[in-house]
Amino acid sequence: MEQRCQCGEPIEFEYQKGEVRKPGSVWNRYREFYGFDISESYSLGEGDTSLTSLNKLSSELGIELFAKNETTNPTWSFKDRGTFLGVQQAAKNDFSKIGTVSTGNMAVSVAAYGARFDLDTHIMVSKDIDKVKLSQIGVYGPKIYRVDGDYGDLYFRSLEVGKSKEVYFINSDDPYRVEGYKTIGFEIAEEMVPDHILIPTSSGGLFRGIVKSFMELKKSGIIQRLPEFTAVQGEGCSPIYYAYKEERDEISHVKEKNTFAKAIANPYPPSGNEVLRKLKQLDGNCVSVCDGEIISSQKELASEGIFAQPAGCVGIAAAKKLKDNERIEEGEKVVSIITGSGLKVRSGEFKGSQITDLNIDELETI
Ligand SMILES: *Cc1c(COP(=O)(O)O)cnc(C)c1O
Repeated sequence: MEQRCQCGEPIEFEYQKGEVRKPGSVWNRYREFYGFDISESYSLGEGDTSLTSLNKLSSELGIELFAKNETTNPTWSFKDRGTFLGVQQAAKNDFSKIGTVSTGNMAVSVAAYGARFDLDTHIMVSKDIDKVKLSQIGVYGPKIYRVDGDYGDLYFRSLEVGKSKEVYFINSDDPYRVEGYKTIGFEIAEEMVPDHILIPTSSGGLFRGIVKSFMELKKSGIIQRLPEFTAVQGEGCSPIYYAYKEERDEISHVKEKNTFAKAIANPYPPSGNEVLRKLKQLDGNCVSVCDGEIISSQKELASEGIFAQPAGCVGIAAAKKLKDNERIEEGEKVVSIITGSGLKVRSGEFKGSQITDLNIDELETI
């Protein structure tokens, strides 16, 4: 199960053609769009989230704005769609150990599915992770490592160590993870093909999955045109946005991580160059939004009944910006992906997770 090309770029499954087979779960309806078999055993009911019209914001902006509300997934973020596929394929390929590198939603998601599939689960978090987050991961009982080192580098180091230790690291843009995220695009397209889709972007895995789903639908003749795809980053950690703005083909490693949208603060996104290529190929767009814009958007979303975490709100902030500079036109249909819940769940009980403090150079001791 190769995860990256020798050239350093991510690996991607071949583009599929298919038809949507109704009714059924997402894994059943879209099965023809997968080049491998998917079993529904151990599914926790990923996806089939609602596309909710945001009435107040729509009339304020003069557009038709919708929220693809991913907060209702089994662990309250879209990550579950990709985690389920990744963990399932790791188990099918006889891995007894899985892992991930994350401080937030992905750690929680992989910990949950690791428990569900009964696998030995290794979660690498950053050294300064707060207690509430730690307990939200710890409740599922994985092995937790607090690692001292750069988060961008940890992605690559974990894949190396995973190879030698036979741990399948289902990181942010793992090929199966990206395949799982396609279901978001398929679900949206069952209801409409919007003019714009606004995608909170960190590693780039989510962006790639959504773009791939629409390209496959077009290739299959199910839709005739693609939406315009916008990657949205948080000002203060926006390496993809910087490269896009300067018309570079490659991202550079940013040092600072100063955004309120912590869940999308990746200083060296592993799919960053691929996102840039897709933006160029499809004439997409990239914007960054500041903390003030994110906080107002969070309140506005709440006024429509949806409580999202800061990273989940950046698309709403971007919608305003893009309407202001006329990249989004009057009356257009816009979908913002609300990637994760704002609920600060009361921390769960520790199920006796073993917590180890490591320096990034000591990773092979896992
Ligand atoms: C992971 C995550 C993202 C970004 O996804 P990538 O695939 O890393 O680009 C956006 N929002 C939230 C809430 C997330 O947890």
